[in-house]
Amino acid sequence: MNIGFGFYPGGKRKALTMSYDDGQVHDRKLVEIFNRYGIRGTFHLNSGRFDIDGFLKSSEIRDLFKGHEISAHTLNHPYLTILPGDMVATEVLEDRKNLEELAGYPVRGMSYPFGAYSQELVEILPFLGIEYCRTVNSHNGFQLPDDFLAWHPTCHHKQGLIEKAKAFKNIGKWAQMPLLYVWGHSFEFEWDKNWDLIEEFCKMISGDEDVWYATNIEIADYVKAMKSLKFSVDRKTVHNPSAQDVWISVDGEPCRVEAGKTVKL
Ligand SMILES: [Zn+2]
Repeated sequence: MNIGFGFYPGGKRKALTMSYDDGQVHDRKLVEIFNRYGIRGTFHLNSGRFDIDGFLKSSEIRDLFKGHEISAHTLNHPYLTILPGDMVATEVLEDRKNLEELAGYPVRGMSYPFGAYSQELVEILPFLGIEYCRTVNSHNGFQLPDDFLAWHPTCHHKQGLIEKAKAFKNIGKWAQMPLLYVWGHSFEFEWDKNWDLIEEFCKMISGDEDVWYATNIEIADYVKAMKSLKFSVDRKTVHNPSAQDVWISVDGEPCRVEAGKTVKL
């Protein structure tokens, strides 16, 4: 018996997640497109800018992002790398606090304003309740991150999105848990007059039984749960201490290990 990994929830082999920043009014149209195709994602928001002209209203946040993830992007969008530590803490915690009041759940994700990050920030953020933070450093691949606190995406939507989608669709069975992670800003579609790009992408990539359409935090949580599995030395027994089911690979086939259960393989 060969025990391994390689599956997302439901035994799906691939995952797609979208990550959009800044909370401008054009998020409304983007969410409408995502919802129409069953595409899910994460919206990184600066709560200090809500209700300002061109930005979302605080009163619409909860309903607008239902089914997606509400995530932090700091209160006022500063370069965190040049800020004293206590001001980093305020920027992150105040944003979380405001967003949580609107979202109704703990906000545990973030993206770096301007993509500016440092090793120091990677070390500080977990103490501020942040479990992942996205950079703007596209790697053009489909791999999961080495470090969720410096989570490099596949590509910005202007970096060959349709080609990436084609490559993702045609990816071989050998690939280990491929993830297509796209980031951007909804206002770019408006400025570039290319809403048809995201529409075409969503149409292409939606409705695939082999793909888990997930938010950023769902992927981080799932990988964490996967890594927390406890195997006996002979690998014949596995315990899942987490609160979510995990799918492992047994002789190449998906096998569900139920949340909180101990399973004989
Ligand atoms: Zn931003």
